[in-house]
Amino acid sequence: MHPDMIQEKLAELRRTFASQKTAGYSWRRSQLLALQRFLAERENDLAEAVRMDFGKSPAEMFFTETAFVGGEVRHALRNLRKWMKPDRARIPLHYRFGRARAEACPLGVVLVIGAWNYPVNTCLAPLVSALAAGNCVVLKPSEQAPHTSRLLAEGIANYLDDSAVEVVQGGAEEARALLRERFDCIFYTGSRRVGREIMQTASGTLTPVILELGGKCPCIVEKNTNLRAAARRIVWAKFLNAGQTCIAPDYVLAHRDVADELLPELKKAIGTLYGPDPERSADYARIVSHRHFDRLESLMHAGNIAAGGERDRNDRYIAPTILTDISPDDPVMKEEIFGPLLPVLTYGTINEALSIVSRNPDPLAVYLFTPDKAVTEKVKGSVRSGGLCINDLLFQSAIHGLPFGGTGLSGFGRYHGRAGFDAFSYRRSVFHHSIFPDPSLRYPPYGPAKFGFLRKIVEMFDT
Ligand code: NAD
Repeated sequence: MHPDMIQEKLAELRRTFASQKTAGYSWRRSQLLALQRFLAERENDLAEAVRMDFGKSPAEMFFTETAFVGGEVRHALRNLRKWMKPDRARIPLHYRFGRARAEACPLGVVLVIGAWNYPVNTCLAPLVSALAAGNCVVLKPSEQAPHTSRLLAEGIANYLDDSAVEVVQGGAEEARALLRERFDCIFYTGSRRVGREIMQTASGTLTPVILELGGKCPCIVEKNTNLRAAARRIVWAKFLNAGQTCIAPDYVLAHRDVADELLPELKKAIGTLYGPDPERSADYARIVSHRHFDRLESLMHAGNIAAGGERDRNDRYIAPTILTDISPDDPVMKEEIFGPLLPVLTYGTINEALSIVSRNPDPLAVYLFTPDKAVTEKVKGSVRSGGLCINDLLFQSAIHGLPFGGTGLSGFGRYHGRAGFDAFSYRRSVFHHSIFPDPSLRYPPYGPAKFGFLRKIVEMFDT
Protein backbone atom coordinates (compact mmCIF):
# COMPACT_ATOMS: atom_id res chain seq x y z
CA MET A 1 0.00 0.00 0.00
CA HIS A 2 1.37 3.43 -0.95
CA PRO A 3 2.22 5.71 2.03
CA ASP A 4 -0.48 8.22 0.93
CA MET A 5 -3.06 5.44 0.99
CA ILE A 6 -1.87 4.34 4.43
CA GLN A 7 -2.42 7.88 5.72
CA GLU A 8 -5.84 8.07 4.10
CA LYS A 9 -6.89 4.73 5.55
CA LEU A 10 -5.58 5.66 8.98
CA ALA A 11 -7.54 8.90 8.89
CA GLU A 12 -10.66 6.84 8.17
CA LEU A 13 -9.94 4.48 11.09
CA ARG A 14 -9.39 7.47 13.38
CA ARG A 15 -12.72 8.95 12.28
CA THR A 16 -14.42 5.64 12.98
CA PHE A 17 -12.85 5.45 16.41
CA ALA A 18 -13.76 9.04 17.22
CA SER A 19 -17.37 8.33 16.25
CA GLN A 20 -17.46 5.77 19.13
CA LYS A 21 -18.88 3.16 16.78
CA THR A 22 -16.44 0.56 18.11
CA ALA A 23 -16.94 1.35 21.80
CA GLY A 24 -20.20 -0.48 22.51
CA TYR A 25 -20.74 -4.12 23.34
CA SER A 26 -22.83 -4.86 20.24
CA TRP A 27 -20.18 -3.70 17.72
CA ARG A 28 -17.48 -5.70 19.49
CA ARG A 29 -19.68 -8.78 19.58
CA SER A 30 -20.65 -8.40 15.91
CA GLN A 31 -16.97 -8.28 14.89
CA LEU A 32 -16.09 -11.33 16.97
CA LEU A 33 -19.00 -13.22 15.40
CA ALA A 34 -17.85 -12.12 11.93
CA LEU A 35 -14.35 -13.39 12.68
CA GLN A 36 -15.85 -16.66 13.87
CA ARG A 37 -17.74 -16.96 10.57
CA PHE A 38 -14.56 -16.24 8.62
CA LEU A 39 -12.69 -18.99 10.50
CA ALA A 40 -15.49 -21.51 10.00
CA GLU A 41 -16.26 -20.74 6.35
CA ARG A 42 -12.65 -20.32 5.20
CA GLU A 43 -11.01 -23.00 7.35
CA ASN A 44 -10.04 -25.12 4.35
CA ASP A 45 -8.72 -22.13 2.42
CA LEU A 46 -6.64 -21.08 5.42
CA ALA A 47 -5.25 -24.61 5.77
CA GLU A 48 -4.37 -24.67 2.07
CA ALA A 49 -2.70 -21.25 2.24
CA VAL A 50 -0.49 -22.27 5.17
CA ARG A 51 0.28 -25.59 3.45
CA MET A 52 1.45 -23.66 0.39
CA ASP A 53 3.54 -21.34 2.56
CA PHE A 54 5.50 -24.02 4.39
CA GLY A 55 3.88 -27.41 4.08
CA LYS A 56 2.05 -27.46 7.40
CA SER A 57 -0.55 -30.24 7.64
CA PRO A 58 -4.29 -29.51 7.96
CA ALA A 59 -4.41 -31.33 11.32
CA GLU A 60 -1.54 -29.28 12.78
CA MET A 61 -3.09 -26.19 11.27
CA PHE A 62 -6.38 -26.94 13.00
CA PHE A 63 -4.89 -27.68 16.43
CA THR A 64 -2.37 -24.84 16.57
CA GLU A 65 -4.06 -22.10 14.58
CA THR A 66 -7.75 -22.13 13.63
CA ALA A 67 -8.99 -24.08 16.68
CA PHE A 68 -6.93 -21.90 19.00
CA VAL A 69 -8.13 -18.63 17.49
CA GLY A 70 -11.70 -20.02 17.38
CA GLY A 71 -11.37 -20.78 21.10
CA GLU A 72 -10.12 -17.25 21.76
CA VAL A 73 -13.19 -15.86 19.98
CA ARG A 74 -15.58 -18.11 21.94
CA HIS A 75 -13.81 -17.26 25.19
CA ALA A 76 -14.06 -13.53 24.43
CA LEU A 77 -17.74 -13.81 23.45
CA ARG A 78 -18.51 -15.67 26.66
CA ASN A 79 -16.68 -13.19 28.90
CA LEU A 80 -16.93 -9.85 27.09
CA ARG A 81 -19.71 -8.34 29.21
CA LYS A 82 -17.83 -9.26 32.37
CA TRP A 83 -14.53 -7.83 31.04
CA MET A 84 -16.24 -4.59 30.04
CA LYS A 85 -17.77 -4.08 33.48
CA PRO A 86 -16.08 -1.30 35.46
CA ASP A 87 -14.32 -2.33 38.67
CA ARG A 88 -15.76 -0.55 41.66
CA ALA A 89 -13.38 0.85 44.21
CA ARG A 90 -14.17 1.33 47.88
CA ILE A 91 -14.34 4.97 48.82
CA PRO A 92 -12.83 6.09 52.16
CA LEU A 93 -15.36 7.72 54.45
CA HIS A 94 -14.01 11.24 54.06
CA TYR A 95 -14.48 11.21 50.22
CA ARG A 96 -18.09 10.14 50.36
CA PHE A 97 -20.63 10.50 48.80
CA GLY A 98 -19.68 9.31 45.32
CA ARG A 99 -18.85 6.42 43.01
CA ALA A 100 -15.29 5.34 42.16
CA ARG A 101 -14.78 3.00 39.21
CA ALA A 102 -11.99 1.87 36.94
CA GLU A 103 -13.47 1.75 33.44
CA ALA A 104 -11.84 -0.27 30.65
CA CYS A 105 -11.46 2.05 27.63
CA PRO A 106 -10.19 1.08 24.17
CA LEU A 107 -6.73 2.41 23.29
CA GLY A 108 -7.74 3.75 19.88
CA VAL A 109 -6.19 2.77 16.55
CA VAL A 110 -3.67 -0.02 17.08
CA LEU A 111 -1.13 -1.73 14.85
CA VAL A 112 -0.67 -5.52 14.95
CA ILE A 113 2.40 -6.95 13.18
CA GLY A 114 2.31 -10.75 12.83
CA ALA A 115 5.02 -13.39 12.31
CA TRP A 116 5.09 -16.07 9.61
CA ASN A 117 5.55 -19.17 11.75
CA TYR A 118 1.98 -19.16 13.05
CA PRO A 119 0.67 -16.78 10.42
CA VAL A 120 -2.99 -17.07 11.41
CA ASN A 121 -2.52 -17.26 15.14
CA THR A 122 -0.04 -14.36 15.51
CA CYS A 123 -2.35 -12.10 13.46
CA LEU A 124 -5.82 -13.14 14.52
CA ALA A 125 -5.32 -13.86 18.24
CA PRO A 126 -4.19 -10.25 18.91
CA LEU A 127 -6.98 -9.09 16.57
CA VAL A 128 -9.55 -10.89 18.77
CA SER A 129 -8.15 -9.09 21.83
CA ALA A 130 -8.03 -5.71 20.08
CA LEU A 131 -11.62 -5.99 18.75
CA ALA A 132 -12.95 -7.26 22.08
CA ALA A 133 -11.42 -4.18 23.67
CA GLY A 134 -13.17 -1.91 21.12
CA ASN A 135 -10.22 -0.72 19.02
CA CYS A 136 -9.72 0.02 15.34
CA VAL A 137 -6.95 -2.16 13.95
CA VAL A 138 -4.32 -2.12 11.23
CA LEU A 139 -3.01 -5.63 10.75
CA LYS A 140 0.25 -6.41 8.97
CA PRO A 141 0.77 -10.14 8.38
CA SER A 142 4.22 -11.47 7.51
CA GLU A 143 5.36 -11.34 3.89
CA GLN A 144 7.14 -14.66 4.47
CA ALA A 145 3.77 -16.45 4.51
CA PRO A 146 2.40 -14.74 1.36
CA HIS A 147 -0.55 -17.05 0.66
CA THR A 148 -1.87 -16.67 4.19
CA SER A 149 -1.24 -12.93 4.13
CA ARG A 150 -3.34 -12.57 0.95
CA LEU A 151 -6.16 -14.67 2.34
CA LEU A 152 -6.24 -12.70 5.59
CA ALA A 153 -6.38 -9.44 3.66
CA GLU A 154 -9.22 -10.64 1.46
CA GLY A 155 -11.14 -12.38 4.27
CA ILE A 156 -10.93 -9.53 6.73
CA ALA A 157 -12.05 -7.02 4.12
CA ASN A 158 -15.06 -9.20 3.35
CA TYR A 159 -16.08 -10.25 6.83
CA LEU A 160 -15.14 -7.44 9.22
CA ASP A 161 -16.12 -3.77 9.39
CA ASP A 162 -13.75 -2.20 6.86
CA SER A 163 -14.16 1.23 8.37
CA ALA A 164 -12.46 -0.11 11.51
CA VAL A 165 -10.10 -2.88 10.40
CA GLU A 166 -7.53 -2.76 7.62
CA VAL A 167 -4.94 -5.30 6.50
CA VAL A 168 -1.71 -3.94 5.02
CA GLN A 169 0.33 -6.55 3.19
CA GLY A 170 4.06 -6.35 2.62
CA GLY A 171 7.41 -6.69 4.33
CA ALA A 172 9.87 -4.52 6.24
CA GLU A 173 9.40 -1.53 3.92
CA GLU A 174 5.62 -1.45 4.43
CA ALA A 175 6.08 -2.07 8.16
CA ARG A 176 8.48 0.89 8.37
CA ALA A 177 6.00 3.09 6.47
CA LEU A 178 3.34 2.13 9.00
CA LEU A 179 5.66 2.85 11.91
CA ARG A 180 6.15 6.39 10.66
CA GLU A 181 2.49 6.99 11.57
CA ARG A 182 1.29 7.36 15.11
CA PHE A 183 -0.67 4.48 16.60
CA ASP A 184 -2.13 4.13 20.06
CA CYS A 185 -0.34 0.81 20.53
CA ILE A 186 1.98 -1.41 18.49
CA PHE A 187 1.62 -5.12 19.09
CA TYR A 188 4.55 -6.92 17.51
CA THR A 189 5.33 -10.64 17.23
CA GLY A 190 8.70 -11.64 15.79
CA SER A 191 12.43 -11.49 16.27
CA ARG A 192 14.39 -9.55 18.89
CA ARG A 193 16.29 -7.68 16.18
CA VAL A 194 13.14 -6.19 14.65
CA GLY A 195 11.57 -5.78 18.11
CA ARG A 196 14.43 -3.50 19.05
CA GLU A 197 13.94 -1.41 15.90
CA ILE A 198 10.21 -1.11 16.56
CA MET A 199 10.74 0.02 20.12
CA GLN A 200 13.25 2.62 18.99
CA THR A 201 10.89 4.02 16.37
CA ALA A 202 7.94 3.96 18.77
CA SER A 203 9.90 5.97 21.33
CA GLY A 204 9.82 8.94 18.93
CA THR A 205 6.03 9.19 19.23
CA LEU A 206 5.82 7.76 22.77
CA THR A 207 3.70 4.93 21.40
CA PRO A 208 3.26 2.02 23.82
CA VAL A 209 4.55 -1.29 22.47
CA ILE A 210 3.90 -4.91 23.27
CA LEU A 211 6.68 -7.19 22.08
CA GLU A 212 6.15 -10.93 21.69
CA LEU A 213 9.66 -12.14 20.94
CA GLY A 214 11.55 -15.42 20.97
CA GLY A 215 14.28 -17.04 23.01
CA LYS A 216 15.90 -20.37 23.79
CA CYS A 217 13.42 -22.48 25.75
CA PRO A 218 15.11 -25.22 27.78
CA CYS A 219 13.58 -28.60 28.57
CA ILE A 220 15.04 -30.23 31.68
CA VAL A 221 14.53 -33.96 32.17
CA GLU A 222 15.23 -35.06 35.74
CA LYS A 223 15.53 -38.53 37.24
CA ASN A 224 12.51 -40.67 38.17
CA THR A 225 10.31 -39.42 35.37
CA ASN A 226 8.46 -41.55 32.83
CA LEU A 227 10.96 -41.31 29.99
CA ARG A 228 8.73 -42.79 27.32
CA ALA A 229 6.00 -40.21 27.92
CA ALA A 230 8.56 -37.41 28.31
CA ALA A 231 10.26 -38.37 25.01
CA ARG A 232 6.97 -38.50 23.07
CA ARG A 233 5.89 -35.14 24.42
CA ILE A 234 9.25 -33.54 23.70
CA VAL A 235 9.38 -34.89 20.15
CA TRP A 236 5.82 -33.77 19.47
CA ALA A 237 6.47 -30.24 20.79
CA LYS A 238 9.84 -29.85 19.11
CA PHE A 239 9.00 -31.06 15.61
CA LEU A 240 5.52 -29.55 15.38
CA ASN A 241 5.71 -26.86 12.67
CA ALA A 242 9.17 -28.35 11.88
CA GLY A 243 10.53 -26.74 15.03
CA GLN A 244 9.52 -23.23 13.95
CA THR A 245 7.64 -22.48 17.15
CA CYS A 246 8.60 -19.66 19.51
CA ILE A 247 7.84 -21.83 22.56
CA ALA A 248 9.29 -25.08 21.17
CA PRO A 249 11.79 -26.80 23.46
CA ASP A 250 15.00 -25.43 21.97
CA TYR A 251 17.28 -27.99 23.62
CA VAL A 252 17.07 -30.82 26.16
CA LEU A 253 19.09 -31.01 29.36
CA ALA A 254 18.96 -34.64 30.50
CA HIS A 255 20.16 -35.81 33.89
CA ARG A 256 23.27 -37.94 33.48
CA ASP A 257 21.51 -40.98 35.02
CA VAL A 258 18.68 -40.99 32.44
CA ALA A 259 20.32 -39.58 29.29
CA ASP A 260 21.27 -43.02 27.89
CA GLU A 261 17.72 -44.22 28.29
CA LEU A 262 16.08 -41.01 27.05
CA LEU A 263 17.96 -40.89 23.76
CA PRO A 264 16.55 -44.16 22.29
CA GLU A 265 13.09 -43.12 23.47
CA LEU A 266 13.41 -39.82 21.60
CA LYS A 267 14.51 -41.66 18.43
CA LYS A 268 11.67 -44.16 18.81
CA ALA A 269 9.17 -41.33 19.23
CA ILE A 270 10.37 -39.65 16.00
CA GLY A 271 9.77 -42.95 14.15
CA THR A 272 6.33 -43.38 15.71
CA LEU A 273 5.19 -39.84 14.97
CA TYR A 274 6.68 -39.32 11.50
CA GLY A 275 7.48 -42.82 10.16
CA PRO A 276 10.78 -44.11 8.77
CA ASP A 277 10.97 -41.27 6.23
CA PRO A 278 9.60 -38.03 7.73
CA GLU A 279 9.95 -36.31 4.32
CA ARG A 280 6.97 -38.40 3.24
CA SER A 281 4.94 -37.79 6.39
CA ALA A 282 1.80 -35.74 5.73
CA ASP A 283 2.23 -34.23 9.22
CA TYR A 284 5.72 -32.83 8.85
CA ALA A 285 6.19 -29.22 7.72
CA ARG A 286 8.95 -27.57 5.69
CA ILE A 287 11.40 -24.79 6.52
CA VAL A 288 9.88 -21.47 5.54
CA SER A 289 12.69 -20.18 3.30
CA HIS A 290 16.07 -21.07 1.85
CA ARG A 291 17.64 -18.43 4.06
CA HIS A 292 16.40 -20.24 7.17
CA PHE A 293 17.34 -23.61 5.63
CA ASP A 294 20.93 -22.42 5.17
CA ARG A 295 21.05 -20.96 8.67
CA LEU A 296 19.84 -24.25 10.18
CA GLU A 297 22.22 -26.32 8.05
CA SER A 298 25.16 -24.31 9.37
CA LEU A 299 24.07 -25.11 12.95
CA MET A 300 24.18 -28.87 12.26
CA HIS A 301 27.96 -29.06 12.16
CA ALA A 302 28.52 -29.20 15.91
CA GLY A 303 28.64 -32.49 17.87
CA ASN A 304 27.18 -35.72 16.49
CA ILE A 305 23.95 -36.39 14.66
CA ALA A 306 22.27 -39.09 16.77
CA ALA A 307 19.09 -39.16 14.65
CA GLY A 308 17.94 -37.53 11.42
CA GLY A 309 20.29 -35.12 9.70
CA GLU A 310 18.89 -35.80 6.20
CA ARG A 311 17.99 -32.70 4.25
CA ASP A 312 16.91 -31.51 0.83
CA ARG A 313 17.40 -27.84 0.03
CA ASN A 314 15.06 -27.89 -2.99
CA ASP A 315 12.25 -29.19 -0.83
CA ARG A 316 13.31 -27.01 2.15
CA TYR A 317 13.22 -30.25 4.15
CA ILE A 318 15.28 -30.98 7.24
CA ALA A 319 14.54 -34.26 9.04
CA PRO A 320 13.76 -34.25 12.76
CA THR A 321 17.33 -34.22 14.03
CA ILE A 322 18.89 -34.98 17.41
CA LEU A 323 22.35 -33.61 18.13
CA THR A 324 24.54 -35.04 20.91
CA ASP A 325 28.02 -34.25 22.28
CA ILE A 326 27.14 -30.58 22.12
CA SER A 327 28.98 -28.03 24.22
CA PRO A 328 27.18 -24.98 25.62
CA ASP A 329 29.73 -22.94 23.62
CA ASP A 330 28.68 -24.35 20.23
CA PRO A 331 26.84 -21.91 17.91
CA VAL A 332 23.69 -24.08 18.09
CA MET A 333 23.51 -23.21 21.82
CA LYS A 334 24.02 -19.49 21.29
CA GLU A 335 20.97 -18.51 19.25
CA GLU A 336 17.33 -19.53 19.09
CA ILE A 337 17.34 -22.60 16.77
CA PHE A 338 13.82 -22.15 15.37
CA GLY A 339 13.97 -25.35 13.34
CA PRO A 340 13.98 -29.15 13.71
CA LEU A 341 17.34 -29.55 15.45
CA LEU A 342 17.28 -30.82 19.02
CA PRO A 343 20.56 -30.70 20.94
CA VAL A 344 20.57 -33.08 23.93
CA LEU A 345 23.05 -32.12 26.65
CA THR A 346 23.62 -33.86 29.97
CA TYR A 347 24.09 -32.54 33.50
CA GLY A 348 24.90 -33.93 36.94
CA THR A 349 23.15 -31.61 39.39
CA ILE A 350 20.20 -29.27 38.91
CA ASN A 351 22.54 -26.35 39.62
CA GLU A 352 24.66 -27.44 36.65
CA ALA A 353 21.55 -27.53 34.45
CA LEU A 354 20.50 -24.08 35.66
CA SER A 355 23.90 -22.61 34.93
CA ILE A 356 23.57 -23.78 31.29
CA VAL A 357 20.07 -22.26 31.14
CA SER A 358 21.39 -18.96 32.53
CA ARG A 359 23.65 -18.53 29.48
CA ASN A 360 20.49 -17.66 27.48
CA PRO A 361 18.39 -15.70 29.97
CA ASP A 362 14.66 -14.94 29.91
CA PRO A 363 13.31 -17.77 27.74
CA LEU A 364 9.71 -17.56 26.60
CA ALA A 365 9.05 -20.92 28.29
CA VAL A 366 10.77 -23.42 30.56
CA TYR A 367 9.89 -27.12 30.49
CA LEU A 368 10.63 -29.51 33.28
CA PHE A 369 9.99 -33.22 33.69
CA THR A 370 10.21 -34.22 37.33
CA PRO A 371 8.07 -35.66 40.11
CA ASP A 372 10.20 -33.77 42.63
CA LYS A 373 8.55 -30.69 44.19
CA ALA A 374 11.84 -29.34 45.56
CA VAL A 375 13.39 -29.40 42.07
CA THR A 376 10.31 -27.68 40.64
CA GLU A 377 10.56 -24.92 43.25
CA LYS A 378 14.28 -24.58 42.64
CA VAL A 379 13.75 -24.12 38.89
CA LYS A 380 10.84 -21.71 39.48
CA GLY A 381 12.94 -19.60 41.77
CA SER A 382 16.08 -19.61 39.62
CA VAL A 383 14.86 -19.00 36.06
CA ARG A 384 12.79 -16.05 34.88
CA SER A 385 10.56 -17.05 31.96
CA GLY A 386 7.30 -16.08 30.26
CA GLY A 387 5.77 -19.49 31.02
CA LEU A 388 6.54 -22.74 32.81
CA CYS A 389 5.11 -26.15 31.97
CA ILE A 390 5.82 -29.18 34.13
CA ASN A 391 5.64 -32.72 32.71
CA ASP A 392 4.34 -31.43 29.37
CA LEU A 393 5.05 -28.77 26.76
CA LEU A 394 3.29 -25.96 24.87
CA PHE A 395 -0.04 -26.27 26.69
CA GLN A 396 0.67 -23.28 28.91
CA SER A 397 -0.01 -21.19 25.80
CA ALA A 398 -3.21 -23.00 24.80
CA ILE A 399 -5.26 -22.20 27.90
CA HIS A 400 -7.33 -19.10 27.19
CA GLY A 401 -7.49 -18.18 30.87
CA LEU A 402 -3.67 -17.97 31.15
CA PRO A 403 -1.82 -14.84 30.03
CA PHE A 404 0.75 -15.42 27.28
CA GLY A 405 3.94 -13.45 26.73
CA GLY A 406 7.62 -13.17 27.48
CA THR A 407 9.72 -11.49 30.09
CA GLY A 408 12.92 -9.47 29.77
CA LEU A 409 14.60 -10.42 26.50
CA SER A 410 11.68 -12.59 25.33
CA GLY A 411 9.42 -9.54 25.30
CA PHE A 412 6.82 -7.85 27.43
CA GLY A 413 3.09 -7.50 27.59
CA ARG A 414 0.55 -10.30 27.82
CA TYR A 415 -2.38 -11.44 25.72
CA HIS A 416 -4.87 -14.32 25.23
CA GLY A 417 -8.23 -14.14 26.98
CA ARG A 418 -8.67 -11.45 29.61
CA ALA A 419 -4.96 -10.53 29.42
CA GLY A 420 -5.45 -9.62 25.73
CA PHE A 421 -8.51 -7.51 26.50
CA ASP A 422 -6.48 -5.69 29.17
CA ALA A 423 -3.48 -5.27 26.84
CA PHE A 424 -5.62 -3.34 24.34
CA SER A 425 -7.50 -1.30 26.98
CA TYR A 426 -6.49 1.31 29.46
CA ARG A 427 -8.23 1.63 32.76
CA ARG A 428 -9.55 5.09 33.36
CA SER A 429 -10.12 6.06 36.99
CA VAL A 430 -13.49 7.75 37.27
CA PHE A 431 -14.67 9.36 40.49
CA HIS A 432 -18.17 10.71 40.36
CA HIS A 433 -18.69 12.85 43.43
CA SER A 434 -21.93 14.19 44.76
CA ILE A 435 -22.11 18.00 44.60
CA PHE A 436 -23.58 18.00 48.13
CA PRO A 437 -22.63 18.10 50.91
CA ASP A 438 -19.72 20.51 50.54
CA PRO A 439 -18.38 21.01 54.09
CA SER A 440 -15.95 23.90 54.57
CA LEU A 441 -13.85 21.52 56.67
CA ARG A 442 -11.84 20.48 53.57
CA TYR A 443 -10.87 24.03 52.61
CA PRO A 444 -8.33 26.44 54.09
CA PRO A 445 -7.79 28.24 56.33
CA TYR A 446 -6.87 25.18 58.36
CA GLY A 447 -5.57 26.45 61.67
CA PRO A 448 -4.15 24.04 64.27
CA ALA A 449 -7.46 22.65 65.58
CA LYS A 450 -8.99 22.02 62.15
CA PHE A 451 -5.75 20.55 60.83
CA GLY A 452 -5.45 18.26 63.91
CA PHE A 453 -9.02 17.04 63.42
CA LEU A 454 -8.60 16.44 59.67
CA ARG A 455 -5.34 14.62 60.28
CA LYS A 456 -7.12 12.22 62.68
CA ILE A 457 -9.90 11.55 60.17
CA VAL A 458 -7.45 10.93 57.31
CA GLU A 459 -5.29 8.58 59.40
CA MET A 460 -8.32 6.71 60.69
CA PHE A 461 -10.26 6.23 57.45
CA ASP A 462 -7.72 6.46 54.60
CA THR A 463 -7.18 2.76 53.79
P1 NAD B 1 10.56 -11.05 11.94
O1 NAD B 1 10.90 -10.17 13.08
O2 NAD B 1 11.53 -11.21 10.84
O3 NAD B 1 9.18 -10.61 11.25
C1 NAD B 1 7.99 -10.44 11.98
C2 NAD B 1 7.19 -9.33 11.37
O4 NAD B 1 7.94 -8.12 11.42
C3 NAD B 1 6.80 -9.54 9.90
O5 NAD B 1 5.46 -9.12 9.73
C4 NAD B 1 7.75 -8.64 9.17
O6 NAD B 1 7.25 -8.16 7.94
C5 NAD B 1 7.93 -7.50 10.13
N1 NAD B 1 9.18 -6.79 9.95
C6 NAD B 1 10.32 -7.25 9.42
N2 NAD B 1 11.27 -6.28 9.43
C7 NAD B 1 10.69 -5.20 10.01
C8 NAD B 1 11.14 -3.90 10.35
N3 NAD B 1 12.38 -3.51 10.09
N4 NAD B 1 10.28 -3.06 10.98
C9 NAD B 1 9.03 -3.45 11.27
N5 NAD B 1 8.55 -4.66 10.98
C10 NAD B 1 9.36 -5.53 10.36
O7 NAD B 1 10.24 -12.42 12.68
P2 NAD B 1 9.87 -13.79 12.03
O8 NAD B 1 11.06 -14.37 11.35
O9 NAD B 1 8.59 -13.67 11.26
O10 NAD B 1 9.57 -14.63 13.36
C11 NAD B 1 10.54 -15.36 14.04
C12 NAD B 1 10.74 -14.86 15.44
O11 NAD B 1 9.50 -14.55 16.05
C13 NAD B 1 11.35 -15.91 16.33
O12 NAD B 1 12.32 -15.32 17.14
C14 NAD B 1 10.19 -16.40 17.18
O13 NAD B 1 10.58 -16.94 18.43
C15 NAD B 1 9.41 -15.16 17.32
N6 NAD B 1 8.01 -15.47 17.59
C16 NAD B 1 7.52 -15.14 18.79
C17 NAD B 1 6.21 -15.47 19.09
C18 NAD B 1 5.62 -15.10 20.42
O14 NAD B 1 4.44 -15.27 20.57
N7 NAD B 1 6.40 -14.64 21.36
C19 NAD B 1 5.40 -16.11 18.15
C20 NAD B 1 5.94 -16.40 16.91
C21 NAD B 1 7.25 -16.08 16.63
